Amino acid sequence: MLHFNGASAKYGISEAGYYGEFGGAFIPEMLYPNVEELRLNYQEIINTPSFIKDFRDLLRDYVGRPTPLFHAKRLSKKFKATIYLKREDLCHTGAHKVNNTIGQILLARHLGKKKIVAETGAGQHGVATATVCALMGLPCSVYMGKLDVERQGPNVDRMRMLGAEVIAVESGNQTLKDATNEAMRHWINNPIDTHYIIGSVVGPHPYPDMVTKFQSVISDEIQKQLLQFTGMENPDYVIACVGGGSNAAGAFYHYLDEESVRLIAVEAAGKGLDTDESAATTFLGKPGVLHGSKSLLMQSEDGQVIEPYSISAGLDYPGIGPMHANLYQQGRVDFMAATDEEALNAGMQLCQLEGIIPALESAHALAVLPKLQFEPSEVVVLNLSGRGDKDLSTYTEELR
Ligand SMILES: *Cc1c(COP(=O)(O)O)cnc(C)c1O
Repeated sequence: MLHFNGASAKYGISEAGYYGEFGGAFIPEMLYPNVEELRLNYQEIINTPSFIKDFRDLLRDYVGRPTPLFHAKRLSKKFKATIYLKREDLCHTGAHKVNNTIGQILLARHLGKKKIVAETGAGQHGVATATVCALMGLPCSVYMGKLDVERQGPNVDRMRMLGAEVIAVESGNQTLKDATNEAMRHWINNPIDTHYIIGSVVGPHPYPDMVTKFQSVISDEIQKQLLQFTGMENPDYVIACVGGGSNAAGAFYHYLDEESVRLIAVEAAGKGLDTDESAATTFLGKPGVLHGSKSLLMQSEDGQVIEPYSISAGLDYPGIGPMHANLYQQGRVDFMAATDEEALNAGMQLCQLEGIIPALESAHALAVLPKLQFEPSEVVVLNLSGRGDKDLSTYTEELR
């Protein structure tokens, strides 16, 4: 039975929306009524039996949950441990993001909202949002940087086929950060009838908590599946990649208080941590405020946000969610980084060892397996956040 409790006293969110020193709601006054409406209502709504039933039914019948926990035997043999892959790549639309958009569209319906706005970078969250909007018959506006619209043609086509309006943002660098600014502006101008679906565990309180809870279905399932396979709920390791941090938050959530479980978050090192082209926030970032919350943030000496870089469009965000910033600071989660090249090689290796083409994001998580020293008896769960169909041209160009 799915549940949203089990929140950690030590690492969870405070009444005011803080994880340690990170989080909060740093928003323009004009946004206050929208965020306040959510803050006052989300807990109660998502814990009603009817919400939980609708959420669970859609995850089962529409998304295809529970996703399998797959014992990857050839990968296990290679790295001399027992490795399980949590198959989020098998979710409808090809990644974990739809877990969150299903939760948020149901929430929007409970709040009586009639329209949806969202931002997207690579287009994955935009597709997951357009999908649930079609499902519920709600109109949907997706803001996307103009550069990303040009780079991510297939996802733009998908969103449009699903009935979404895709708005190309021409301000700033014309990427995710600028799209987010415009989506927030749209929300300010449509406060009464519109819900803003944020795509990761970022943004002002209560978004990080809300998105974490919707994604926590991942670790809820892992516990049950591991118990069946091994007789124990706890593995020795849980490994996940981090862009904003939603798939990692979901995979870690029910393990936060299980101190014997090593939690490993993998950031994109891009062309290397010592170059200007990276997205490894904990290695290169400092505390700062972006998109409504305080967290770790890649920024210049004078506090300008730095444009991040990764070969993987889902990981090139200049920050991480506030929960992760706190988990990093408390030392509860170990952060590692993988370069473009390490991720490409690890992705190819999974193709050939297990017959699974992983998303380039997920390939970053795979890329740390050779850097960890496992005992032969150890059990490792790696969250395979998405499938690699969207990345085929990158794989083939880079590896030619
Ligand atoms: C968007 C995306 C990510 C990164 O987002 P998180 O919020 O950090 O999970 C990772 N993997 C895939 C497949 C994605 O689409």
